[in-house]
Amino acid sequence: MPKYVFVTGGVVSSVGKGVLSASLGLLLEARGLKVAMMKLDPYLNVDPGTMNPYEHGEVFVTDDGAETDLDLGHYQRFTRAKLSQKSNVTTGRIYNSVIQKERRGEYLGKTVQVVPHITDEIKSYIRNLTTGSDSDADVAIVEIGGTVGDIESLPFMEAIRQFKFDIGAADCCYVHVTWVPYIEAAGELKTKPTQHSVRALRDIGIQPNVLVLRTGPQILGSDERDKVAMFCDVSKEAIISAEDISPLYAIPLNFKQQNLDATVLNILGITAAHGNLGYWEDIVARLENLEGQVRIAAVGKYTGHEDAYKSINEAFVHAGIANNCKVIVDWFDSEQFEEGPLPDEVLSSYDGILIGPGFGTRGIEGKIKTVRYARKAKKPFMGICLGMQIAVIELARDLLGLEHAGSTEIDPDTPDAVISLLSEQRGVTDKGGTMRLGEYRCDLKPGTRAHEAYGTEVIHERHRHRYEFNNAYREALEEKAGLIVSGTHMLGEHELVEIIELRDHPWFCASQFHPEFKSTPLEPQPVFRAFVKAALAHGAGGSNDSRESETRAAQVS
Ligand code: GLN
Repeated sequence: MPKYVFVTGGVVSSVGKGVLSASLGLLLEARGLKVAMMKLDPYLNVDPGTMNPYEHGEVFVTDDGAETDLDLGHYQRFTRAKLSQKSNVTTGRIYNSVIQKERRGEYLGKTVQVVPHITDEIKSYIRNLTTGSDSDADVAIVEIGGTVGDIESLPFMEAIRQFKFDIGAADCCYVHVTWVPYIEAAGELKTKPTQHSVRALRDIGIQPNVLVLRTGPQILGSDERDKVAMFCDVSKEAIISAEDISPLYAIPLNFKQQNLDATVLNILGITAAHGNLGYWEDIVARLENLEGQVRIAAVGKYTGHEDAYKSINEAFVHAGIANNCKVIVDWFDSEQFEEGPLPDEVLSSYDGILIGPGFGTRGIEGKIKTVRYARKAKKPFMGICLGMQIAVIELARDLLGLEHAGSTEIDPDTPDAVISLLSEQRGVTDKGGTMRLGEYRCDLKPGTRAHEAYGTEVIHERHRHRYEFNNAYREALEEKAGLIVSGTHMLGEHELVEIIELRDHPWFCASQFHPEFKSTPLEPQPVFRAFVKAALAHGAGGSNDSRESETRAAQVS
């Protein structure tokens, strides 16, 4: 049986519970423990897949095709925990399952209520996390979204309170993360909101064992620690200061310095080796000493929300580690290229151009112009998902002369649907969970850039899309537009195009899959790595095609 750490938040949302949970997971793994990770989200959507990234930030996708909260991206980048459908559960999913059970008659004769039926269901989802391949997990870290005091998180709070009652106090640790404002006029960090937040938590029967105080740029002083410890009944060594730390990946080292891992293990009665964080310290040291710099213009539509492209931004950080350079990513809303200045003017100083994933019609023409610019100006170009679809549309329009080529997502009546639904998908009307989701095998063509980047012929990458490359146009694009299909997946009788590149271009790669979901600081993702390398070469003014220059060098000598 695993032991449980429950992470709650107080005072305000966005205090960094996700990064704290991920950091704790990392510290425990470094000590040789097996960790399972989970996020409970108190909203009514069954999963975040149907939410606009403007509302919620990125939707993170797991191997088994779960559309999840972006905090799972932190878990993946910091830990080795296996993430799946079991790792993210919302109020909507819980209610859905309780209501289905009620209809099947599983509660026959009973009045179905929040307590005990909803809370029981939450507890069974929590227990379910450590079944199957994770049944040998030592510690399950369960993060509860929202803030203590919210009406909607109450059933989750009640469920985790009962959990301790069910399994015993010795096997549970409650970590509460709060915000401590700095009041300029008084020159002080104020702990009163934290005290109130702990009081709210105690009201529902939860006494926290560890408090993590987000302080902004300040560091929590000894007096403040004493005060919080005394008023909140938490031992002084379990009061952790979480000041702003950059880079993000250095955050676990700050927690390590304050013995967060030892404190939690002590509470849970686990003895574990001291372990070795050297591998992570190396990553942080490399990040802090990057030598070069490269600038990427990323073009998308959800640019108003900082976390809408979280995994892409992080994948660039990882690719920077691999290439020993700082990667500056500036996001542009493609709509601005539809009437305003062209990408040719705005993006010319960048070393590489990315078109990110997206849904719907807004900003499409601006993205097409962006691809045209990158292709003609021979700038390193990377496309992800919609980014690949746009690249195909652009090639068809400009090089095959199909002026109205498009995707049926954008225009159902397009005369040349170079991107369309597979015949089997046409009757599907539900939106939730009906896309091609999760990990698919992709076979790479030897000698292509993609093959060179991965160094292997068989790869597995994650997907999240509904529309596909239309093979009816493949031959024409290959013959007349310089298209190379560098990777495919066989789905029944369909050979699905998964990654493409261009023949006469220094570096132009676009994938139907989302390479960003698998990137970690320890294993930077190959396509991002190769793109940043090409952008570096472009920025240095050299040839950005190492293979071409090698061939040339060979011919010369
Ligand atoms: N909207 C496109 C599709 O559903 C692309 C999705 C994406 O970029 N993730 O196929």
